[in-house]
Parts: sequence; C-alpha cells; structure tokens
Amino acid sequence: MKDGIHPNYYQAVVECNCGNTFTTGSTKESIHVEICSKCHPFYTGQQKAAAARGAIDKFNRKYGLKQA
Ligand SMILES: [Zn+2]
Repeated sequence: MKDGIHPNYYQAVVECNCGNTFTTGSTKESIHVEICSKCHPFYTGQQKAAAARGAIDKFNRKYGLKQA
C-alpha cells in the first residue's frame, strides 16, 4: 500500500444502545450504534415497535382477521 493516502485501520469497539459490544474493523476507533444483531427484532423474533403493532392491528381490523 502507498504511504499517506490510506486512513488508519482500527479494531473498533462497537457499543450498542442495548449494552452489547463487539469489535469490527473500521477507520474509527469506536462506534456507537442504536441497534445490533443482539437486539434487532429480526434476530430476536420480537415485535418491539408499538407503531408496527398498531399497523398490524389496523390491517387485521380492516380485513376482518381474528387475533390469534
Ligand atoms: Zn443492540
């Protein structure tokens, strides 16, 4: 690699709002994220957002589906 044109590459510590931390390669030394693979609903299987639940209820009412 050429000198002087590449940014420094760190093993960055990524800290999530849920308290989970992990390391990854980055040009920054530390990163703060709001959501990660430990707390994202896609991975946890939980519906976290109230707005999303509301939208599902609305859909069920509109199309006459019964709640499980
Ligand atoms: Zn998280």
